[in-house]
Amino acid sequence: MQQASNVRDILGAGNPVDRLGRPLHDLRISVMDRCNFRCPYCMPKEQFHEHYRFLKSQERLSFDEIVRLARLFGSLGVRKLRLTGGEPLLRANLADLIGDLTGIPEIEDIALTTNGVLLAQHAVDLHANGLRRVTVSLDTLDKDIFARMSGGFGALEQVLHGIDAAIAAGLSPVKINAVIERGINDHGTLDLLERFRGMPVIVRFIEFMDVGNRNEWRPDTVVPSRELVARIKARWPMHPIAENYRGEVAQRWRFDDGMGEVGFISSVSQPFCGTCSRARLSSEGKFYTCLFATHGLNLRDALRSGATDADLLQMIRGTWLERTDRYSEQRDELRQARNPAEQKIEMYYIGG
Ligand code: SAM
Ligand code: SF4
Ligand code: SF4
Repeated sequence: MQQASNVRDILGAGNPVDRLGRPLHDLRISVMDRCNFRCPYCMPKEQFHEHYRFLKSQERLSFDEIVRLARLFGSLGVRKLRLTGGEPLLRANLADLIGDLTGIPEIEDIALTTNGVLLAQHAVDLHANGLRRVTVSLDTLDKDIFARMSGGFGALEQVLHGIDAAIAAGLSPVKINAVIERGINDHGTLDLLERFRGMPVIVRFIEFMDVGNRNEWRPDTVVPSRELVARIKARWPMHPIAENYRGEVAQRWRFDDGMGEVGFISSVSQPFCGTCSRARLSSEGKFYTCLFATHGLNLRDALRSGATDADLLQMIRGTWLERTDRYSEQRDELRQARNPAEQKIEMYYIGG
C-alpha cells in the first residue's frame, strides 16, 4: 500500500507523504532573521552581538517569492501557515504579506508568532488584512525575570499591552507561549495562569528544547509538563480534553470551573514526531523538514535562477517523500552520535 502511494507521489499525483507516513500540512515561514530581543534560550546576546552578521534584505525572500512558494506548498497539501522569525513584526509591511497569503485558496489558517513588543501598533492592521490568530511569547510576569529572559530588551508592559490590543482587534483567543526553564521561571507558572484565566487567552507551557547550538541546554533544565500539570491541578482542578486536530502539538486541559484552558507542549518528555506534518521555510528561502535539521534545501537560488513551478514542486515533493526526521524521539542517541561540526539550524533562523 505504502509502495503504491509512493509511486503515485513520485509521478506527481496526490499530496506527498514522507517515509514515516506523515503528510505535509503545516508550513512555518520565517520572514525575518533579526530580533529585538535576545532570549538566552534562542539568541544569547554574547553570540548574537552587534557585529553578528544577519541577512541583508536582498538575501531574504521577497514577499512575492514567499507567496509563490506558499502557493506551491498549498498545492502539495499545506493548509496552515505560521509567520514567525526572528521577530516577524520587524519585517516592514507584514500585514501586506498576510493579505496576499489569504488569497491562496488552499490555505485555511494563517497565524503569527511574535514576542509582542510591536503588536499593539500593528494588531488592527494585521486583523484588517486577514490575520485571525496570534501567539505571543511571554515567559513570566516578573519584571526582573522578564528582563533576564529577553536579554534585557523590551518591556513586560509592552507585551501585556500587545496582548490586550490583539484581543481588542479580534485576534482572539490569543495564545501565549511560555518556555519554562528550571530555576529560572518555573515558579511563576501559576501567576501567568492567574492573570489570564477567564480571559480569551490560552496559556501554553513549552518545555525548554535543545534547538540550535548556542543555548547551553541541559536535560536537567527541562521541567517536564507532567510536573506542571500536577502543580496546576492542585490549585485549579482541570481535566484533559481532545485535540482540535490530528497532530496538534499542545496537549489541552480545561479548568473544571469553566475559566478556560491551558496547553502543554512537551516535545522533550513526550515527543510527537509520529504526527509531525510541519515544514519550515527560513528567511533566506531554505526548506527544512525538522526543527532540528542540519541541512535545508535552497529554494531561493532555484527561484532566482528561473526554476519553473514544476521544478520547484518536484524539489519540494522529492524532499518531503524522503523525510525520515524524528529528532525528539531520538534525542539522546543523536546528541551522542552527531558530529559536533554538523551544526543544527538555529531557532531564530527558521522560527518556532
Ligand atoms: N520572536 C517570536 C517570538 O518569540 O514569539 C517568534 C520566533 S520564536 C523563535 C518562536 C517560539 O520559539 C517562541 O515562542 C519561543 O519562545 C520559542 N523558543 C525559542 N527558543 C526555544 C527553546 N530553546 N525551547 C523552546 N521554545 C523556544
Ligand atoms: Fe527573538 Fe523570539 Fe528568539 Fe526571543 S524567542 S530571541 S523573541 S526570536
Ligand atoms: Fe517534527 Fe522534528 Fe519536532 Fe519531531 S523533532 S516533532 S520531526 S520538528
